[in-house]
Amino acid sequence: MVYYHGNVLETHLFDENFKRTSMNRQYGALVGKLAVTEFQVGKAKVCLIHGNITDMDTDAIVNAANSTLMGGGGVDGAIHRKGGPKILEECKHIRATEWPEGLPTGKAVITSGGNLKAKYVIHTVGPIWRGGNSGEPELLADAYRNSLKLAATKGLETIAFPSISTGAYGYPIEKACQIALKTVKEFLEKEDHIAKVAFVLFSAHDFEVYKKTVKEIFR
Ligand code: ADP
Repeated sequence: MVYYHGNVLETHLFDENFKRTSMNRQYGALVGKLAVTEFQVGKAKVCLIHGNITDMDTDAIVNAANSTLMGGGGVDGAIHRKGGPKILEECKHIRATEWPEGLPTGKAVITSGGNLKAKYVIHTVGPIWRGGNSGEPELLADAYRNSLKLAATKGLETIAFPSISTGAYGYPIEKACQIALKTVKEFLEKEDHIAKVAFVLFSAHDFEVYKKTVKEIFR
């Protein structure tokens, strides 16, 4: 069953086997079991997936890293565990050459994807939530924008984001989600290099917040 909300195309995969098969081809096997919401911005498709970003076979997945680039918990830990030591080696090289003091908040760098299905990992540092008056919204938007710019510069067409800053860094999901969706929408309206952006939400709650907000921002 497919529903239209303005320009939002909502696909209920549980209802339609044909759609499930075609979505599997587009997003990998993980999507077969999970709900996806998809919509169009210019030539690009944007989708919401309830799942694990390390399963994505997009050209790049984005890591919510910390400025050391030496790994951490949450999505960072999951990416390094599954991607293997090559990613960390490349991060060490970036620290030794480009960013000896650490990657500043809002900036992004790229490594290969190691053993992941994704060919590349884009590492960005989101802001730590300090109440909202310390430049957090702009820094969070920078993290999304600079990741997209880097992907476009490298000629990549498909990219998957986690919900940056909303785990250990404490950014409230409702606020962060607005910024994530608006920033990606504005980028895609101006640039046509990127064909697909996936937001991969780990928890059912985050997925629901994104689904609700997407209808406000893309109506
Ligand atoms: P940050 O330090 O930027 O807050 P975290 O990794 O702590 O980063 O959390 C960011 C978000 O990533 C959280 O919403 C968390 O639930 C989610 N997350 C954790 N593991 C995964 C994963 N494997 N795939 C997708 N999202 C994940």
